[in-house]
Amino acid sequence: MGRLYDNHNHSQFSFDGKRTSVREAALQAKAKGLGGLCFTDHCDFFVPGVKAEKENLLREVFDVAPQQAEIRAAREDITGTGIFMGAEIGLYKDCHQQIRKFLSDNKFDQIIASVHYIDGIDPFYGGYYQGKDWKEAYGHYLETLYNEMVWLGDFDIMGHYDYVARYAPYPQTSILYKDFSDILDQMMKYLVSEGKALEINTKSYQDYKGRTPVLDRDILIRYRELGGEVISLGSDSHDPFRVGDKFDFYAGYLKSLGYKYGAHFEGRRLVQENL
Ligand SMILES: [Zn+2]
Repeated sequence: MGRLYDNHNHSQFSFDGKRTSVREAALQAKAKGLGGLCFTDHCDFFVPGVKAEKENLLREVFDVAPQQAEIRAAREDITGTGIFMGAEIGLYKDCHQQIRKFLSDNKFDQIIASVHYIDGIDPFYGGYYQGKDWKEAYGHYLETLYNEMVWLGDFDIMGHYDYVARYAPYPQTSILYKDFSDILDQMMKYLVSEGKALEINTKSYQDYKGRTPVLDRDILIRYRELGGEVISLGSDSHDPFRVGDKFDFYAGYLKSLGYKYGAHFEGRRLVQENL
């Protein structure tokens, strides 16, 4: 197995990063033999009302300067694993200006484009699914992610396209290619033509309240058919022990489907290494 990179991690600079730190996560990456890890702290300029009240937050945007200072300091004394600077941009239609400004004001190794909140709702709190069947709920999320990421353009990795299934109440636990082939094709064609990465977010495939979404192999097969080679592995860790979680399994899975390379980004440039 080649050296793998975990491109999606949250540190103490994320609003929900109290259980971890740059240093602890980097030490875990080193202990697990990863080539490196990237800190992609949250950057959501909009927080839905219920959550904003519960957690007393109006925005979930990390402070870039202290995060990057901490990463530089960690690089000094933790060697043997790459430690990269990133951000996870939570796309939302009313925040376009703030997102553009944030990206032009700061420099990163790598940017993830995600959708966490949709139609003014946080799916984690459930309201998004009310009055929708699974097909409508998942389809609308995928279309929103597609439209938002095409608007942004300035990113490297499409984050957890199946986030909407993580907390859903339906027996239909997973996003399958056969159910959403049109929109998934559009998304994957865009990634391929722009040289961006499809993310395998291993947090999505954890058990949550008795439901365990799976990664549909047909999506990976189709991505390859479309010329897709750039796949990013991300644990979405908020705890050090989850850094690199199940990467050996997914790297083996990718290899079995004919993929040859892992991917990470340095200074916004794609670097690929053998799986
Ligand atoms: Zn996320």
